[in-house]
Order: sequence, then C-alpha cells, then structure tokens
Amino acid sequence: NLTDRLADTFKNLRGKGKLSEADVDRTVREIRRALLDADVALEVVKDFTGRVRERALGHEVSGALNPAQQVVQIVNDELVTILGGEARRIEFAKNPPTVIMLAGLQGAGKTTLAGKLSKWLAADGHTPLLVAADLQRPNAVTQLQVVAGQAGVAVFAPEPGNGKGDPVKVAKQALKFAKDKQHDVVIIDTAGRLGVDAELMKQAANIRKAVDPDEVLFVIDAMIGQDAVTTARAFQDGVDFTGVVLSKLDGDARGGAALSVASITGRPIMFASTGEGLDDFEPFHPDRMASRILDLGDILTLIEQAQKTFSEEESRKVAEKFASDSFTLDDFLGQMQQLKNMGSIKSMLGMLPGAKGMREQLDNFDESEITRTEAIIQSMTKHERTVPKLLNGSRRVRIARGSGTTVTEVNALVNRFEQAAKMMKTVAKGGTPQIPGMGPI
Ligand code: GDP
Ligand code: MG
Repeated sequence: NLTDRLADTFKNLRGKGKLSEADVDRTVREIRRALLDADVALEVVKDFTGRVRERALGHEVSGALNPAQQVVQIVNDELVTILGGEARRIEFAKNPPTVIMLAGLQGAGKTTLAGKLSKWLAADGHTPLLVAADLQRPNAVTQLQVVAGQAGVAVFAPEPGNGKGDPVKVAKQALKFAKDKQHDVVIIDTAGRLGVDAELMKQAANIRKAVDPDEVLFVIDAMIGQDAVTTARAFQDGVDFTGVVLSKLDGDARGGAALSVASITGRPIMFASTGEGLDDFEPFHPDRMASRILDLGDILTLIEQAQKTFSEEESRKVAEKFASDSFTLDDFLGQMQQLKNMGSIKSMLGMLPGAKGMREQLDNFDESEITRTEAIIQSMTKHERTVPKLLNGSRRVRIARGSGTTVTEVNALVNRFEQAAKMMKTVAKGGTPQIPGMGPI
C-alpha cells in the first residue's frame, strides 16, 4: 500500500549526510510510482512530485543536518497542502436555517451521511431537519426515515401516494416547514445514479437553485479509485459544491481518491465517514490524514498506549516473578484481564493503513476467551494456582467439570500458561516485550 511504499522510499535515504541530485530524482520517481499505484490522478501526481523535487533540491535540504528527515517533512507538508491545508468547518447561516445539500452518486453514502451529520449536529445543540428529496428510488424515503429515527432527529418527507413527487418542490416546502418549526439546520438528501448522467445533474442543480444552500457537500466513496476524478469533475461542473465528504474510509481505500479530489476540485474535504454506524464519522483533518498516509508517529503513539495498559509497577513485579519462576496462574489471569483494555485500541488501529499487522494480531484476540479462562482458573484450588505442576489428570477432570469446560480446554490453558511463563522468563532477562498469547507487539 501507499504507506509501505513511501516508507521503503524513505528508508533508502536514511543515514545520507548529503543528497545528490540523483538521490532526489530517484526518491521523487519512487514517490511518483507509489502515488500512481495508489490511484492518485496523474496530473495531481505530476504537480505534487514537481513541488517536492524543487524543494528537495533547494537550500532547506542541503543545509539540513538530516536531509532525509527534511525530505519526509517536505512530502508531509505537500500532502497536507493537496489535502486542503487547514481543516474547514460548516459555515452556519447568519439567519437560520443553515441549509446543507448532499450530492453524489447512488451508493456513495449520502443518506447514511445525512443521519451521521444530523446526529453529530444534534449532539452539539442544533435542531436539524432531514429532507427526503430523493424520490427516485422506491425505498429512499423510508431509508431516510429509518436513519432519522436512529439519529433521533426530525424528517420532512412528501406525502405518500403523491405519485413520483417533485424533489424541488419538496425541498422548498421543507425550508418553510423548518422556519415554522424552528429547525436551525436543514439537510437535504438527494437522488443519485449509478453513473454520472445529465438528468440527475439537472435535478440536483435545480434543487440547488431553488433553495440556495449554505453548503453543498459532495459525497464520494473513497474506494472508487481513478473514477474519483471524473465523478468529482462532473459534479463540480453540473452542480458545484462547497465541500467534499469522503465515505467508506474504513474500507480498503488506498488514499488516492482523497488526494485527487481535494486537489483537482479545489474544494476542502470536510468530513470522513468510516463505517455503516451513525457514529462512524468525523471532521476531516488534512494534517492527520497526511500523517496517516506517511504513518508518521501514529504507530509509535499506539505502541506507547498498548504498553501503558500494563502499568510500570505491575510490569516490574511480574518481571520479578518471571525471573524467579514464581509466576502463578493467578498472575496469568490478571494479565489476560488487562488485555481487555486493549479493545479500544483495536478500533483506533483500524484507521491506520500501516498498522494492519497489529490489527490482525488484536483481531485474533478473543475476549470471551478471558471469561472461560477465568472460569477455569477459579475452579482451581489456591494451591493448584500457585503450583501448576500439581495439575494431574484427575485434577484436570475435576476443574473442567467445575468450570463447565472440557479437559481439552483446561489442557490448552495450562499449556499456554507454561509457554507464557517460559517466554516471559526470557523477556525478564532482557528480551523483547511480549504479550502472552499474542506474540511481540
Ligand atoms: P446513497 O445512495 O448515497 O444515499 O448511499 P447510502 O447512504 O444508502 O449508502 C450506501 C451503502 O453504503 C449502505 O449500505 C451504507 O450502509 C454503506 N455506507 C455508507 N457510508 C459508509 C461508510 O463510511 N463505510 C461503510 N463501510 N459503509 C458505508
Ligand atoms: Mg440515498
């Protein structure tokens, strides 16, 4: 992926005291290839690498103590720039309601976003009204009503049985309704098509003309790759928009769409959608996205957090026990229970492309296993927990029965305990840190 490719590129520069023009050219070529492979549009790539090359050959690098680091910094700066620089927030109208219109292809995530955005605004004290102006698909109105229910916000929909209905009329009626009922934000969900088409554009443009929205948000699926550019251009020409929302960033998106769309349309990315749930949504920060792409610092922070889960004092005590061979099954249980705290880290790791390996390790970690482990250890006598060697066949049968598990499970636990004890003993004598049952972090 893009992150790994860039990391490899920079690895080759490390330790160089001075960069020759050939070094810079090679680096720029590699960055260029990595970006193209990540589906960033060619014109964006050319522009980007041109600026990086110029700066990398300039005095800020030749005069730097560590030129390689300086180049990484430049690439980071330029990434932030093409992602839109500063984060931009919704501009609320001086005279409410603030009108926000959503546009984009079918399946881009508009209706879901309407729910996310309204929930987020409501939590901030706003009184949003969702408007069903997608009268194209049979289920679109119902879907918006469901989403509004989940978000706990009001929805304005055309009377059922009115035939197809006119989305422009609905939007206008909704504005009047919002003023009467004191809704300070109106979010208009519109229809999309699978591909760009003229009629769809005209409808969206007509809605825009009729309600003069404060913001038009173009919602785009981050997974659509190279098509991002044509789609974004078509919507810019056909409807125009004030901001971009990247949806499905939780998927296997390679980041290319994000880089292209902001740069080509000159419109800021304002929000990121990261899942099907209404809370999987956040304001977009160009600098954070850039460092995600470059993987700078984020991984380190996460590792620090994982290590904090095991407090220092505790680690020291446990280490002493390992070293002196007095680590017991009770200690083992205590450690497993601490791993429960790592669940939240799992979701954060999902955000980072470079952290895939760590995420898989955490995925393999099953919390219900802790519950079974607890049951097994609690069915042991105090003596057995301290001296696991006592655990012969008949004791294991008794423990399995007492804990509602099987002898196989008891055996597996004792084996894992013994392995962990052995592993940790090595660590205590100066190896790399390991979490029992999970391997190195
Ligand atoms: P619309 O046609 O633009 O209104 O798109 P919808 O809001 O109906 O979304 C289409 C599909 O994408 C639905 O199944 C959503 O649950 C899903 N979806 C929307 N946003 C996201 C997201 O950020 N991540 C993921 N994984 N799925 C999403
Ligand atoms: Mg929809």
